[in-house]
Amino acid sequence: MLQQLEQLKSKALQELTSINHPEQMESWRVRYLGKKSELTRILRSLATLPVDERKAVGAQANRVKADLADGLRQKEQALREMQLAASAQEERIDITLPGHPFPIGRLHPITQTLHEICSIFASMGFQVVEGPEVEWDHYNFEALNIPKEHPARDTMATLWVDFKTDSGQRPMLLRTHTTSVDIRIMETTPPPLRVVIPGKVYRYEASDATHTPMFYQIDGLVVDEGITMADLKGTLYEFARRFFGEDRKVRFRCDYFPFVEPGAEMAIECSVCGGKGCRLCNYTGWIEILGAGMTHPQVLRNGGLDPQVYTGFAFGMGVDRLPILRYGIDDTRLFYSSDLRFLRQF
Ligand SMILES: [Zn+2]
Repeated sequence: MLQQLEQLKSKALQELTSINHPEQMESWRVRYLGKKSELTRILRSLATLPVDERKAVGAQANRVKADLADGLRQKEQALREMQLAASAQEERIDITLPGHPFPIGRLHPITQTLHEICSIFASMGFQVVEGPEVEWDHYNFEALNIPKEHPARDTMATLWVDFKTDSGQRPMLLRTHTTSVDIRIMETTPPPLRVVIPGKVYRYEASDATHTPMFYQIDGLVVDEGITMADLKGTLYEFARRFFGEDRKVRFRCDYFPFVEPGAEMAIECSVCGGKGCRLCNYTGWIEILGAGMTHPQVLRNGGLDPQVYTGFAFGMGVDRLPILRYGIDDTRLFYSSDLRFLRQF
C-alpha cells in the first residue's frame, strides 16, 4: 500500500510538470485529488486496514495529499505568471509610435482683434465696459443729439423692437452703435472717465462684401477736466502706431457726427499700395478706420455732467475692418460664415 502511494505521487507530479493550460490543470486535480481519485479511495479504505498498518498508511497518504496539493498550488502560480508574461508581450505598447493629435481650438479673428485693441487701450489706462444690445431710442439716438427726424438716423438703418408705447412710439431697438453706452456710463460713473466699449451692433441691411446686418464696434470715451483735442489726437495716434505699426502714417480730417463737436475721422496709409492708390483704398492712398471728436456739450449735459467743468472726447470704429485691412480680406461675410477652412488661418 505504501509503495502504491509512492508510485501514485511520482506519477501525479510527473504529469503535473507537462501541464501548460488551466483546463488540463483542472482535470489533473479531479484525477488525483478529486472525490473519485485513487488517493481518496485509499484514504476511505483506511478503516478496513489492521490498526498498525492503518497508522503508517494514513500518515503517508496524508503526506502525499499535502504534497500533491502543494504541487498544484505551485503549478497554478507558475501558469498565472506565464499567462501574465504572454499577455504583457501581446499587449505591449510601442511608446515610440506618434500619438493622435487633438484638434486645438482657437479664438475667432474678430475676438482676437477685440482682445488686441482692448489690451492696447487698457495699457493706456482705459477700462473695458459693456452695455445692452437691446437699447432704448433715448440712449442710442436722443441723448446723443440725434432727435427724431434728424437726418443722421437715415445713415443708420435701424432694427426696431416690435413694442409700442400708448402713444404709438417704438422706443426700443437693437443698438446701431456702441456709442449707445456712453450716456449710461456718464450717468453712473463720476469723471475722470476713460473707457472702451466693445460689442455687437445691428443694422437693417442686406449682407454683401462690405456689409453685414450684425458686426462689431469698439467705442471709446474720455471725460475729465481739461481734456482737449490734443489728448484725442495723441491717444488715437498711439493706438494706430501700436496696432498698425510704427511706420504707418496717420491722417486726421474733419468729419461730422451729431454727438461730437468738432468731429474728425482718422485714416491710415493704405497697407496694400503704401499710399500710391489702389482698389482697396479707392485710389486715395488712405483708409478711414475710425470716427472721433470732442464730446458735444449737449451730450455731456444729457449724461448729467456740466460742460463748463468737464470736456471729453469719443471715438468709434468697426472692428471687422481691422483684420480685413491687416490681412487683405475682400469679403466681410467670411468672418460670420463659420467656415473653419477660413477661420483656421488666423
Ligand atoms: Zn491702396
